[in-house]
Amino acid sequence: MNPSYPEVAGRADHRCEYCRAPEVIFNFPFEVEHINPSSRGGTNELSNLALACRACNVFKANRLQAVDEGTGEAVDLFDPRRHRWEDHFSVEADTGRILGTTPIGRATVAALQMNVLRQLAARREWMRLGFYP
Ligand SMILES: [Zn+2]
Repeated sequence: MNPSYPEVAGRADHRCEYCRAPEVIFNFPFEVEHINPSSRGGTNELSNLALACRACNVFKANRLQAVDEGTGEAVDLFDPRRHRWEDHFSVEADTGRILGTTPIGRATVAALQMNVLRQLAARREWMRLGFYP
């Protein structure tokens, strides 16, 4: 396990810092993710680390930017250290869909595939059980 896991997970309140999945209902710890990937020179400083669920980490991979379908422009992905989640996303209460409310939010929702069927099905169960949002 990443040696920074306790600090990173505690700071994130044990939620994925991208989709806000609750770690408590998973049977394996969430991952310590490099916001600026190691492969691009990102450091192991706490300021470059975020807690991510497996799905968000896999789909983010080594990207820093993605295209906002609303404008067609490449924009920075959501950065949990620089941005506030509430400023870029909202959750649709009846469907569990995460809505990007800014270009950064929209590009991140699309790039991290936050609203594919499996994600929505899981998120609705978390909502039903009171773990989300
Ligand atoms: Zn996630």
